[in-house]
Amino acid sequence: MRENRFRKRYQAALNDAQLQKGVSAATRLLVSMREKTVAEIPDWQALRERGRAIREHTLDHLDGCLETLEQSVTRQGGHVFWAKDDEAARRYVLDLALSRGVKTIVKGKSMISEEIGLNDALEAHGVEPVETDLGEFIVQLADEHPSHILAPAIHKTKEDISLLFARKLLKPKVTEPKALMAQAREHLRGKFLEAQMGVTGANFAVARTGTVVLTENEGNIRFSTTCPPVHVSIMSLEKVVPDWSELYVLLNLLIISATGQRLSTYVSFLNPPMADKTRHGPKEFHLVLLDNGRSRILGDERYRSILRCIRCAACFNVCPVYTKIGGHAYGTVYPGPMGSVLSPLLFGLDAHEELPFASTLCGACRDVCPVKIDIPNMLLELRSDVTENWKARHRMYGRRLRVEVWSRVAGDETVLRWASRIARSAEPILNVAKAPDGFKLSHRRFERSE
Ligand code: SF4
Repeated sequence: MRENRFRKRYQAALNDAQLQKGVSAATRLLVSMREKTVAEIPDWQALRERGRAIREHTLDHLDGCLETLEQSVTRQGGHVFWAKDDEAARRYVLDLALSRGVKTIVKGKSMISEEIGLNDALEAHGVEPVETDLGEFIVQLADEHPSHILAPAIHKTKEDISLLFARKLLKPKVTEPKALMAQAREHLRGKFLEAQMGVTGANFAVARTGTVVLTENEGNIRFSTTCPPVHVSIMSLEKVVPDWSELYVLLNLLIISATGQRLSTYVSFLNPPMADKTRHGPKEFHLVLLDNGRSRILGDERYRSILRCIRCAACFNVCPVYTKIGGHAYGTVYPGPMGSVLSPLLFGLDAHEELPFASTLCGACRDVCPVKIDIPNMLLELRSDVTENWKARHRMYGRRLRVEVWSRVAGDETVLRWASRIARSAEPILNVAKAPDGFKLSHRRFERSE
């Protein structure tokens, strides 16, 4: 097998006692908060089953749901862009920003912009992207990437954050969480006011009414979606829900599974601005629908149920592997059990062939998943794909090596003569004088047969 990059990363994580302590304390807290609320809900299993059925039904009718969503958004004056891949999505947002003379973008709740590498593209063209979710703001200041889809800075202690703010924002060193939040808030308020564009992801989008739905606890999404004159929501295709009755079920499942809350502090519902442009709020609304390999996954019966995922991260918090090594060790935008399935499917098995093995297959992720995704089973399928891939690659390497050796031997008359003699004398014992399939041995060179 090729050099095991995952092994290097997880060994570094296992040697980092502070990281392990921080991640396991934070995930334990999230697990206990979720368990407490779930225990208070008598029909939790029925709700999970309803969630599973809604997601399956939506995937079965995904094209129709997305067309309805597009019509609902455009009918209200919004713009919809279908992005085939990350490049197309990046290009659209970048062109929009440059054509509107945007210098600063406030962002929030957008793992999908991590997936498409939006910040680097914006910065390369002189546009400043500012993450406004506290966790995302912290990892952006630290020049890192999120290590958890819900709590991006879960690997950092308050002491780390205090040092970071002192160094990058020139703030006095404080370690009280409230004081640190106040420092971040003070910095970000100015950014909300100066930004000309807001970019967010989407937890869901309701097809019938063309409404993008975002949940949060900090209030930053409210500012990102209402202060700047242009708003862009980027969502992956499968985030669509047919109507509000389905949204209600999924919102409950998401929020309870994520943080154990009954409802987030803020739930934002975004619709395009109506024809009356004198209303407060953004004057332009753009919805980017990102495929980036999802329609391929949808067509694969073995893996399509991963598209049910509502990004609650409950499977991260119970995973014995994730809680030991944190998210960065996975080396991908989507870590944890869900990411060990999704990342190889989205970004290629070759790039992430170690991830299907980053699991004990204990089944905790399946038991906790609010939409009943059978992650361990898909990890086993992926392991089998990795083995097939490995065999195919080594058959190819083996063939290439044989061709190379034969070319060298056949290209040198002296070596060829000696090799032929040795081969002839050894042939009765070992049948080794065979050219690779499709090639013949000539006296001077090694050439392809007709
Ligand atoms: S796989 Fe299930 S538990 Fe994990 S993030 Fe997705 S919905 Fe949540």
